[in-house]
Amino acid sequence: MAENKRDYYEVLGVEKGASAEEIKKAYRKSAMKYHPDRNPGDKEAEEKFKEVGEAYEVLSDDDKRARYDQYGFAGVDPNFGAGAGGYGGAGFGGGFSGFGDFGDIFSEFFGGGGGSSRASAQNAPRRGENVMARLELTFEEAAFGCEKEVASQRIENCSVCNGSGSADGVIETCSQCHGSGQVRTTQNFMGMHMQSTTTCPTCSGRGKMVKNPCNTCKGKGKVRRTNRVNVKIPAGVDAGQSVRVRGEGCVGSNGGPNGDLLVEIYIKRHPIFTREDRDVLCEVPISFTQAALGAKIQVPTLDGKVEYDLPEGTQTGREFVLRDKGIPEVNNPRRRGNHRFTVVVETPTHLTKEQKDLLRQLEGTMVHSETPKIKKFFDNLKDFFE
Ligand SMILES: [Zn+2]
Ligand SMILES: [Zn+2]
Repeated sequence: MAENKRDYYEVLGVEKGASAEEIKKAYRKSAMKYHPDRNPGDKEAEEKFKEVGEAYEVLSDDDKRARYDQYGFAGVDPNFGAGAGGYGGAGFGGGFSGFGDFGDIFSEFFGGGGGSSRASAQNAPRRGENVMARLELTFEEAAFGCEKEVASQRIENCSVCNGSGSADGVIETCSQCHGSGQVRTTQNFMGMHMQSTTTCPTCSGRGKMVKNPCNTCKGKGKVRRTNRVNVKIPAGVDAGQSVRVRGEGCVGSNGGPNGDLLVEIYIKRHPIFTREDRDVLCEVPISFTQAALGAKIQVPTLDGKVEYDLPEGTQTGREFVLRDKGIPEVNNPRRRGNHRFTVVVETPTHLTKEQKDLLRQLEGTMVHSETPKIKKFFDNLKDFFE
């Protein structure tokens, strides 16, 4: 698995020594580019979006980044430091130092995934895994923050047996390993007798045996359940960002802490507003008489309607800025972006005969000094044909 993964720095397109700010910037850029809302149905974009999210989750966390820098992907595996679990450990950090390149051969020889070298860690406290959930917000909810119930699937301790796995509470010490969770074995490898310690097959390393397994969890002591939790979404969150809720992930093992819940933010399309970082953008249609004569116009903003004095002679496509009417900064909600609106002059349709006559009269009085663009165009045209 890890061999196919791209280096996290490469994924975000930053240098190894990049600052937290550079990493954040690079992430936001990529997340926006590959966001599923912008690439509907595009599987490749979806994969990229996940890839940059994963890279950012690691590189934005000082602790995880340090482990990644030192150990690579293995360092940020959820089972890191817990030894024998999941990732088929070819002796990572384990007992085979000195054999170096033989790592792969050994892991095959001992049956892979068993994690032969660190069996004792089965009893060690292990942090629960993180869980992800998607949350779709309206434009306003993301701008001003909100509280939402988020449902996710996570592993919890079985409430019937309190996580013991036993139906009657009778738990005995494993007869094969006598509670240590590991057994010593001797194997022949290329003529050498190799002694190694492996996880006890009878108790799977727990050191304990349950006589009458709990019906609900089938003796595992854990069940998968839907967890509902109210999550406070800070004002200013953007699509592609995640809100972390500590301890709402899967339950830890052997007294280890719970994992976290990562709530991935999606934002619904707004009928009027779009967003560029912390600025809110919108278009305001105006008539050509308003554009020519100037007018008081109503501009929709996140704070409601704002009256704006349009100057006379306004050109179509011109952008105006209302300061501090945009989206709050996540960590500093009193600082807000701007509201930028673009006016679009609309040409009237379905004019009456009388209106057309008025316009023809107007056209007859127009000279090119009143329409600087048209004047320049005809001047250029003259030079062109000469
Ligand atoms: Zn045992
Ligand atoms: Zn149970």
